[in-house]
Amino acid sequence: MKHTPKPVIMIIIDTLMTTPLEEAVQTGYAPALHFFMENGRYIPHVVSSFPTMSVNIESTLLTGTYADQHRVPALIWYDEERKRIVNCGTGIKEVIASGFSQFLEDMYVRLNNNYLSKQVKTIHEELAEQGLTSGSINAFVYRGHIVRLVDVPRRLQIMSETESPWAVHTPNTWSLGSFAKVRPFTFTPQTFSGNYKAGFQELKYLLKEKQLPDFMMCGIQDLDLRIHLKGPMDLHGIHKIDRELQHVLNLYPSWEHALEACTWILLSDNGHASMGHKRSHYVIDLRKLLHGFSIIDKGRTKDQNEQLALAVNQRTAFIYSLKHESDKKSVIHRLKKDHRIDIIAWKENGTIQVASGEKEGQFSFSAGSGWVDKYHQYWSIAGDEKLLDLTIKHGVIHYGAYPDGLARLSSSLHSHKGNYLVVTAKPGYEFKDKASPTHLGGAAHGSLHKQESLVPMIVAGTETLPSSDRLVDFKPWLMELLLGKEE
Ligand SMILES: [Zn+2]
Repeated sequence: MKHTPKPVIMIIIDTLMTTPLEEAVQTGYAPALHFFMENGRYIPHVVSSFPTMSVNIESTLLTGTYADQHRVPALIWYDEERKRIVNCGTGIKEVIASGFSQFLEDMYVRLNNNYLSKQVKTIHEELAEQGLTSGSINAFVYRGHIVRLVDVPRRLQIMSETESPWAVHTPNTWSLGSFAKVRPFTFTPQTFSGNYKAGFQELKYLLKEKQLPDFMMCGIQDLDLRIHLKGPMDLHGIHKIDRELQHVLNLYPSWEHALEACTWILLSDNGHASMGHKRSHYVIDLRKLLHGFSIIDKGRTKDQNEQLALAVNQRTAFIYSLKHESDKKSVIHRLKKDHRIDIIAWKENGTIQVASGEKEGQFSFSAGSGWVDKYHQYWSIAGDEKLLDLTIKHGVIHYGAYPDGLARLSSSLHSHKGNYLVVTAKPGYEFKDKASPTHLGGAAHGSLHKQESLVPMIVAGTETLPSSDRLVDFKPWLMELLLGKEE
């Protein structure tokens, strides 16, 4: 087996945000992150994918494509072929409403085996083709080349009717909560995924045992849970993660040695928007807003009469028109009257139409000629570009509140089959369906807005950087770090 000159360790700290990170570093709360920043490069604003939900973002990072190609639309969506809602873990109440066994299979089997498109390759698959090894700790998207049988953990067997073992395709090294571990004694208090301590225990074990693969992707999830409850400026969560990072660095003779031995990428996946406190105002109850329509219930397959399906991804929702085109028109009409709604977007005659609950007017765009943005993407645009906060200077489209807004919104409207609207809430607000989780007084994510879309990254142990500030452009850079530059 071939070996890369320097292994890459990529640590995805779920929900790490620029302002609290900088504050934690400046106030001495995060010495390890401070060390990486001082001895590497800090990029405060990386553009994540849309909707800003974990499985969609992991898919983008691993495949170098947006959802129009990797086909994992979000955490929850309506599957037109199966005629039911697919839920990859929105919240326990909604998971139970959607059918617990179904959720387990969607999240742990179908997400990688079926939903993630076979037309795209993950970094793990491409590295294997090049004879390099790779690993994944606590990432939900992990598709690799090794077929492995997994059993449903006993704690979950009691609650589900799912039959195991399942055959999944993983990288060489694979760890996921209580489903799979590399260190036999790693304790995972959360059944569905490992917690931050378990993730770092697994990574430390690989380093100690000299079993680190060429590329290691390690997901650290707990900060997200804290911030949903406590709001974005919780520094204590960063402090706890930093302490674990210090233990990792302490495995080397000096912290500088760690940078000589490996390339380190510390990256976040999405930010959060602070939520308001008053339920009746800040929670946009879509069933209430769309009263009078027959809406499919979670956990059921569609029957003849249902007009709409809903899939709420916190601050973004997909609203599906299942029967008549006229229903979609009346839904748009109703959404436009609600000032809490930011963007309403849908496909029409080969273009994407954009309206808003907050702003007047309409805007439309499609991939094509006419205008170019800073990512060298070409667009035809018409109408009021302020709806997507675009400004045009010297013939170039510049993004304001919605980074890479045209490509990201377009990717979501082409991410799966169906006649649907993509709707986002203004910062401070979030959507609700019957059992979906809400985050009053805390924080939430999911939308196209820069609050959730721009995330920090620290790179140390290499002089190179990705070709752009977009997560979707990182894969070629990662491959180059591992395989060397093609001459
Ligand atoms: Zn979250």
